[in-house]
Amino acid sequence: MTDTQEPTSPVPSIAVVGAGLTGVNAALAFQNQGWRVDLYSNRSRSSLRDDLPATGTAILFGNSRVPDRTITDDRYAGSPTAQFTASSVGIAGAPPDASFTARFTYEAQSVDPRLRTDDRLGEFLDNGAASRFIVDEVTPESLDAIAAEHDVTFVATGKAGLADLFETDLERTPYDSAQRYLLTVTAHGLPVDHVFRGRGSTVPGGLLSLHEDGEIFVGRHLHKDSTGSDDDPDHVSDDTWVILAWARPGTATEEAFRSATDAGEALDVLQTLHHREFPDVADDIDQLRPIDTDPHSWLKGAVTPRVHRPTARTAGGHLVATLGDTAVAVDPIAGQGAQLGTYQVAGLRDGLRTALDEGRSWDGELLTELFEHHWREHAEAGVEVTSLFLGDPLFTDVAQEFFASAATDPAAATALFSLFSDPSPALILRTTADVQSFVASFREAAA
Ligand SMILES: Cc1cc2nc3c(=O)[nH]c(=O)nc-3n(C[C@H](O)[C@H](O)[C@H](O)COP(=O)(O)OP(=O)(O)OC[C@H]3O[C@@H](n4cnc5c(N)ncnc54)[C@H](O)[C@@H]3O)c2cc1C
Repeated sequence: MTDTQEPTSPVPSIAVVGAGLTGVNAALAFQNQGWRVDLYSNRSRSSLRDDLPATGTAILFGNSRVPDRTITDDRYAGSPTAQFTASSVGIAGAPPDASFTARFTYEAQSVDPRLRTDDRLGEFLDNGAASRFIVDEVTPESLDAIAAEHDVTFVATGKAGLADLFETDLERTPYDSAQRYLLTVTAHGLPVDHVFRGRGSTVPGGLLSLHEDGEIFVGRHLHKDSTGSDDDPDHVSDDTWVILAWARPGTATEEAFRSATDAGEALDVLQTLHHREFPDVADDIDQLRPIDTDPHSWLKGAVTPRVHRPTARTAGGHLVATLGDTAVAVDPIAGQGAQLGTYQVAGLRDGLRTALDEGRSWDGELLTELFEHHWREHAEAGVEVTSLFLGDPLFTDVAQEFFASAATDPAAATALFSLFSDPSPALILRTTADVQSFVASFREAAA
């Protein structure tokens, strides 16, 4: 007998390019499997947190919090600012009795993605000497070298940049242009347990307001600077809210959104819009003030929807795969983007682990299979529910039935808002009768 050991199988190595919320989630999830992870970012950790606006609001509506908790512990569950369970809906010009409050069957969690990302990046950095955080703007050329050095390389650089390396899947991409122009601002000054009584609500929660030019969401949102110490000059109180508004292209509202040049102006535009279209809650929204410590607490722009093919080859022939917004980018009207990223990360982690255990290669066939699974289970429905809330003609009857019945039937309101958490019914809801039987299932569940 000799004292030589059985050769141990080498530790798999993964590159993740892009340290947005999805890239960092992936890096942490893969690292927790014991795999060696190199995370590439074009910004330093502090710059990711403090030098730019959040890519979006990234609310996790109920169901997606389950895979999220498999990535790491939920640090924000105890924050009253971060959770909400109801939303009051108003339609401009409609009689007050058309308004309704939807009580959710779930708890939505609204946390500044810069905070969530920073907390998880910190965890990634603390966890493993074998993992690396590399600050570098990755180019198509350097991506080639990165992909050559790793067993698998994921591109999570968001909607732009390296996303163009992947072919657009025209059949799955719902529109060839952005359907809305967006203006969003995080502000403070309204207690988080505020009740919008002007809208007839009796419970704390958010607002969804519809008008001819677009839509406005108002909801509690845990801002990144709310969690520091009270002695910190950059600490803000935790009475923080996000206003997220959509304008149809070519409207005066779009023009007003485009005119904003800082957080104060963005807030002003949105307060004025409430006075014009939604006087029932305008005085409440007037209580909000800009967050002085964060000049990046606002964002304007538009999302051109895009579904990319899941894999591509670099110039040197090395395999790379899409992740997060690089894989599927949708308008945020149904709050799907970050949720899809969370599902995709959990699915990839589990799929790669199973393949490893079965001795299967991490090749293009496997990565395509895992994306197809993600598409069937989550992404297709996320794309479809976004079209529903954008008022796509395919859903005209469905939307009319939901809003008309929600005004008198709490089960219909709850059913409508369940779609943010579980969008899968959007794949089959096509007629008034479909909506009625869907709502009936909520009525029965509540009985
Ligand atoms: C206004 C708005 C509201 C939203 N609200 C919600 C919501 O309520 N719920 C929800 O689920 N989703 C929401 N979304 C969508 C969600 O914000 C996005 O899906 C999510 O943030 C995307 O994360 P990501 O990591 O894939 O991409 P990103 O956040 O775009 O991150 C990409 C990262 O890659 C880096 N990078 C880019 N190029 C390079 C390069 N060449 N080399 C290295 N690094 C690079 C960038 O700096 C960035 O850090 C919203 C989106 C918007 C616009």
